[in-house]
Order: sequence, then C-alpha cells, then structure tokens
Amino acid sequence: MPETIRDTVILGSGCSGLTAAIYTARANLKPLVLEGHEPGGQLSITTLVENFPGFPEGIQGPQLIENMKQQASRFGAEFRMGHLVSADLSKRPFALDLGAETIHARTLIIASGASARWLGLPSEQALIGHGVSSCATCDGFFFSGKEIAVIGGGDSAMEEALFLTRFATRVFMIHRRDQFRASRIMLDRAIAHPKIQFVTNTVVEEVLGVEEKEVKGLRTRNVLTGEESILHVSGMFLAIGHEPNAKMFAGQLDLDEDGYIKTQNYVLTRVQGVYACGDVQDRRYRQAITAAGTGCMAALEVEKYLEEHGR
Ligand code: NAP
Repeated sequence: MPETIRDTVILGSGCSGLTAAIYTARANLKPLVLEGHEPGGQLSITTLVENFPGFPEGIQGPQLIENMKQQASRFGAEFRMGHLVSADLSKRPFALDLGAETIHARTLIIASGASARWLGLPSEQALIGHGVSSCATCDGFFFSGKEIAVIGGGDSAMEEALFLTRFATRVFMIHRRDQFRASRIMLDRAIAHPKIQFVTNTVVEEVLGVEEKEVKGLRTRNVLTGEESILHVSGMFLAIGHEPNAKMFAGQLDLDEDGYIKTQNYVLTRVQGVYACGDVQDRRYRQAITAAGTGCMAALEVEKYLEEHGR
C-alpha cells in the first residue's frame, strides 16, 4: 500500500478543474490539482470575458482564472505543475504516473479540457488574443463594424460565422476545399446569409499585423491555382475543431469517436470514483460557465462517493 493516498486528484486547472477544486477543498478533501500542459486552460488565453455571470463590466480571462485559483487555495487546494503521463484506473487506489513520481488517489476528477486546433502559423500564434481567436462567443463582440474571416468547413465554422454576423459587417468563410463537413442545414443558412462570403479552395499562409500587434489582414493562397491574395480583415476566427485531452484514458474509459470522454448523468465515467467535467466531456456547449457547472457536479459526486466508501 502506498504511504500517502489522496482523497481526490484533479487533472487540469481551467474553469472546470478550479471549480471542482473550490468545492472539494471546501469539503475538506485537500484536493491536489495538476495544472497540466496549459495552466488555466482556454480562459487563460482569452482577453475580456463578458458572459461569466457576476462581472457586469466583464473580466479578463487570466484574472478570472487567478481569482478561482486563489479561492481554491484559500480552502486548502494544493497546486502542482505537471501533467499526467499515464493512469492505472484498474487498481484502487488509482495510480497516477507523473513521470518523476506516482500519486495514489481514491477519486479522480478529469478536467483536462480540449485544445482548439490552430493552423500552426507563427504569425497566427503571435496574434492570439490580438485579433486571432478560437472562440466567437468570447470575442465576437470586439469586431463590431469590422470585416473578419472564419476558417473551417464544419458545423462549428458555420455556427461561428452566423453568430459573428451580429457584429461584423462581412464574414469571409475560408475553407481549404469546396466540399463541406457541415450539415446541410447549417451550410444552407450560411450560404443564404447576405453578410457571409465563401472563399473556397483557399488556405491562409500568413496573418498580417505581427509588428502592429493587431490583425491587419490575411495572405491567402488558392490551392488549385496557386494564386496568392491579401484579404483585408481585422480578425481571424479558427473553427477547425478541438482535440479533447483524453488520449491517455483510451482503453480505460469510454471515449466517443472524436475522443471525448463519454459520461452519464453529466459527469460519471464508466469507472466508479472517476469523473469527467468541462470540455474533455462536453463537445456541445464549451462555455466557461458550463465547464464550471460540471466541475461542481464532479466535486459533489466525489464527496458522495467518498462518504459511501467510509471516508
Ligand atoms: P469538424 O466537423 O471536424 O470540421 C473541422 C473543419 O476544419 C473541416 O472542414 C476541416 O476541413 C477543417 N480543418 C481541419 N484542420 C484544418 C487545417 N489545418 N486547416 C484548414 N482547415 C482545417 O469540426 P467542428 O466543426 O468543430 O465540429 C465537431 C463536431 O461537433 C461535429 O460532429 C459537428 O457536427 C459538431 N457540431 C455541431 C454543431 C451543431 O449541430 N449546431 C455545432 C458545432 C459542432 P476538411 O473538411 O477539409 O477536413
């Protein structure tokens, strides 16, 4: 038997993991939070968050995360840099391999999130939060009266483009092919919208404006003709999919065809004592407030489980 067994370990320090940390810490379970590859999660790379209740003037994403972290620390949550290399959920307590050490835990809350896919261009990476975004709901408002581009050809791209027409004067939908993964109904809606203009068979080669620290335009290339063009837009929204950070649980938990953890009653996985919350199990809503909500549910399930198992 290992010497120290944690009542609960939380994987991930985004909105969902931190909410779970606040709840489990207040229940005196002394949670250990592994901060993961992207400490603070997706909120830590957003700017102003205007739709999280309780902040009438909005709040900067990194500040919101910092506030949650302080709140969890105040009740005794412990934070550690690092991420999970592998987990053995077949044994009790669960064995969590962090590379340099193995931690044992009676319960596990997986809040490892999903990472937006990016094109991977250096200019794109340099301008994230300065006109480049992967979240229309979060950042669309800042593009009132401007022309912008959405990249992608799936349902997310259609949904984001349609949403962005509320603010932007024109939305260019840039897609690398002329066939779309989007459902017919979503595609038809986008095609019919007077503000949306499709630019197909086209890829983005460079985001312009790195020096100025704001998006000034896109250098694009038509993949059929090779012709390059400049598109004068003030923003670029990526909607080329998300990758749930759940690969390390393949074979131990049920994952759907895109790798999201399948849950029942919101947060229950197929292994008792293991709960999944936030974007690693939610492909539909993906909002800070819904991630916080399921983080809370996972924490309450942990309390219930430990109580039922004599802790
Ligand atoms: P998706 O269906 O996988 O579509 C991703 C799109 O991005 C594809 O068009 C793909 O192009 C493109 N893409 C991927 N990598 C790229 C790259 N490096 N450069 C340029 N383009 C790239 O992802 P999604 O739209 O996020 O949807 C995910 C799932 O959620 C789907 O099942 C979808 O139906 C669902 N969803 C549903 C709704 C709704 O019903 N309201 C809303 C959002 C999402 P290719 O086609 O060429 O591969």
